Amino acid sequence: MKTLDLRSDTVTRPTPEMTAVMNSAAMGDDVYGEDPTANRLEKLGADILRKEAALFCPSGTQSNLAALLTHCGRGDEYIVGQQAHTYRYEGGGAAVFGGIQPQPLNFRSDGCLDLGEVEANIKKDDFHFARTRLLCLENTHKGIALPLDYLEQCRDFSREKNLRLHLDGARLFNAARKLDIDAHNIATLFDSVSICLSKGLGAPVGSLLVGEKDFIAEARRWRKVLGGGMRQIGMLAAAGIYALENNIDRLSEDQHNAEALARGLGEVEEIEVIYRDSQTNMLFITLPEPSLSSLHVYLRQRGIIIPGDISVRLVTHLEIDRRDIDYIISTFKDFYAAKRSAAG
Ligand SMILES: *Cc1c(COP(=O)(O)O)cnc(C)c1O
Repeated sequence: MKTLDLRSDTVTRPTPEMTAVMNSAAMGDDVYGEDPTANRLEKLGADILRKEAALFCPSGTQSNLAALLTHCGRGDEYIVGQQAHTYRYEGGGAAVFGGIQPQPLNFRSDGCLDLGEVEANIKKDDFHFARTRLLCLENTHKGIALPLDYLEQCRDFSREKNLRLHLDGARLFNAARKLDIDAHNIATLFDSVSICLSKGLGAPVGSLLVGEKDFIAEARRWRKVLGGGMRQIGMLAAAGIYALENNIDRLSEDQHNAEALARGLGEVEEIEVIYRDSQTNMLFITLPEPSLSSLHVYLRQRGIIIPGDISVRLVTHLEIDRRDIDYIISTFKDFYAAKRSAAG
């Protein structure tokens, strides 16, 4: 039985085609700058996102952290969303390693930070305050693709306020597919962008940080400090190259599958579904509490894995196709139909 794991798009495993290019990758010591495949991946990533340079990092967490450490020094501050990965889900790395203070603000429901609120939180030049250096956005946020005109406003705003601008673009390519534009149209608005190869793009490991040449040279130093200087990584880089060359366009399928799943589950009266127009490969559902654990057992027995809580995120990815979506919908429907008839 095929396993349909809806918990995240990080669960994707290398396909046979990807494994084949990994197995034949040329390799060298990347700390010496001599891994030809890693160098090729960094060049390709920089070209696709129209930036001068790129840095291959083992994780998105490290890529974001290297960016924060490069943009900000001790006693500096970055403005960031309260629920943003770079604030909430990265172990406080900016504070731990850099003495960098976050100024978290609530996201609006559309995944944007209110620029009026950002402005009100920029600290005056006064020794009582940390120095506000950086604005950090996330795209997609909770699967929502941020509008391009908002991102352009953010670029103009950060220039005017003399802030640097970083994008946690873990799922930047999902956002670009949603807006039907190339990812570089978004990336070029930012000083630095981090993208994940290991999510919807299907590589087993890795992220790329992109920016100007000098910025990336400094980030490369921080990556080493953080323990991310890796040796013969051509095999992993080859997976990243394969992902960038083959798996960007197909992200539309994940989006259409998420839409279809949202529509189908929305027909089940017991399930509350949230899927906004601007959403990509994620939907959010709330399930009735009393039958929750029996639902989990029922789904597991049929190869479907979802997170354990009442309100959960479901994520589509390259191991789930349209037929799987129909199967998932009908399995949920069967479960609740059986519950209803048992209740009489
Ligand atoms: C996954 C993710 C990251 C990076 O996570 P890693 O697991 O460290 O690769 C960063 N930001 C967002 C929004 C993410 O979803």
